[in-house]
Amino acid sequence: MYSTMQDVPLLVSRLLRHGSTVHGDSPVVTWTGDGARRRSYGETGARCAQLAHALRDELRIQDGDRVATLMWNNAEHLEAYFAVPSMGAVLHTLNLRLPPEQLAWVVNHAADRVVLVNGTLLPLLAPLLPKLGSVEHVVVVGQGDTSVLDGCRPAVHDYEELLADRPTEYPWPHLPETTAAALCYTSGTTGDPKGVVYSHRSIYLHSLHVNTVEAMALSSADLAVPVVPMFHVNAWGLPHAAFLGGVGLLMPDRFLQPGPLADMIEAERPTYAAAVPTIWQGLLGELAARPRDISSLRRVTIGGSACPPSLMREFQERHGVTVEHAWGMTETSPLGSYAHPPRGLTGEEAWPYRVSQGRFPASVEPRLIGPDGTEQPWDGVGTGELEVRGPWIAGAYYGGPDAGPDRPADRFSPDGWLRTGDVGTITADGYLTITDRAKDVIKSGGEWISSVELENHLMAHPGVAEAAVVAVPDEVWGERPLAAVVLTPQDTAAAAGTGTTDRGPAGSTEPGALRSFLAERVPRWQLPERWTTIDEVPKTSVGKFDKKLLRARHAAGELDVVTLDRYDD
Ligand code: AMP
Repeated sequence: MYSTMQDVPLLVSRLLRHGSTVHGDSPVVTWTGDGARRRSYGETGARCAQLAHALRDELRIQDGDRVATLMWNNAEHLEAYFAVPSMGAVLHTLNLRLPPEQLAWVVNHAADRVVLVNGTLLPLLAPLLPKLGSVEHVVVVGQGDTSVLDGCRPAVHDYEELLADRPTEYPWPHLPETTAAALCYTSGTTGDPKGVVYSHRSIYLHSLHVNTVEAMALSSADLAVPVVPMFHVNAWGLPHAAFLGGVGLLMPDRFLQPGPLADMIEAERPTYAAAVPTIWQGLLGELAARPRDISSLRRVTIGGSACPPSLMREFQERHGVTVEHAWGMTETSPLGSYAHPPRGLTGEEAWPYRVSQGRFPASVEPRLIGPDGTEQPWDGVGTGELEVRGPWIAGAYYGGPDAGPDRPADRFSPDGWLRTGDVGTITADGYLTITDRAKDVIKSGGEWISSVELENHLMAHPGVAEAAVVAVPDEVWGERPLAAVVLTPQDTAAAAGTGTTDRGPAGSTEPGALRSFLAERVPRWQLPERWTTIDEVPKTSVGKFDKKLLRARHAAGELDVVTLDRYDD
């Protein structure tokens, strides 16, 4: 039997039309460092039409052509987010923190024809241009030193001049919903980046999920700050979801350091924000050093790497902000699981659920595959690599303009599931706990030690600001953990003494004392013998701990390691 429902494609242009009309008054606020620029969704819709006309009529962009952005989170980036896919082209968001040679690699792999670039980022783009064979146009957005572009091959345009006097309506085409809409490359630390191509349909369905009570649950009463960069998995879907629900957007532009972020929150009074843990850790330190009024913030989503429970508690207890933990990846659009506690549980009883990676929505189906290749039970014990499938989960990587989809066997199972590379457990009621990245887990004498668990315990110590634990080779055990700790400033000053930190008395932070602290929390055989104190944990281009670099520094003998005797008491 057939259904009698209309077959209407799910398109980004529908989100744009809806947001800019029904929610025409909703604000897009862009922080300028000491104030803000303001536009409405209605104005944004009109400017999207002007941008689409400029790209089509002047720059001759055709369906399926790639238009890249090298931009901060701001109103103009939002315009590109909607205009480019809605007109039938593909938005390629460039990660401005990638090493320059990788940046050139992804532009060439995607064969981008246009790059929209913030003026402040021209010094990054200009030296690369001779290597970017496909780029025909550079469009400069905002102020910057354009003299660095003198003599470059691509034509140079000013964004505002390009938009000026163009029609404020555009006949957005009826596209098949499976048409490519946006392209984002993974920021993996191994090998070349991999391109993930989102479709109109996957973006639309993902947006519907973002706004449900199972996920971010945003509404037009919210002012949301995507601190997560717009080049990192579509800013976790927030811009698209915002247009669905008329959610106000507060864009931090390039002011992402803790001080300016705190100033912006105090001045503009957002209700919600989203970012990786390192950003929030920095903000907490900033607020302890120089208090600001962040009382407008009710909820923040933390994801992108495991959120230390101590960070969650500090936000709650000191600032009354509820932290919600989420898991996802570039390949999952990114929302996979989201940690709301089960119905009826509050206070201490809710914590074990809130610090987990949470539950999956119906649209994202998980399974755990153990080391022997068998599916593991959902009993909170069975451990395996997480595999997922669903309508906003990648089924392949982009193979390049002249190649078909790329499905490497280590990333996609023979029956088409995405192999996430994350190892964990799932409880009977569906709560996921990621114990490690498959490549970061420490394999000691045939047993697995979770680096994340050791890190979380160490970061709960008042004298420890950051901690990263990595596997190092060991003659007897195969691998053993090396704990690299960053001490809190007060504690560093007190030279591992017993000073007071902003989280309470520091206690001793000598390796032996830190290990005794851990001994009360994890089994003895997991306790690290090797310890090193570092100034900062190295971070990847999207702000996650770069454990590969830490392992390399250890292998090169660059770390000052103290080795304790094996623990026995
Ligand atoms: P990316 O594609 O750069 O967003 O990286 C995705 C990876 O980040 C995942 O495969 C996980 O290893 C890690 N990740 C993301 N969110 C979490 C989380 N809440 N807890 C632990 N790891 C996470």
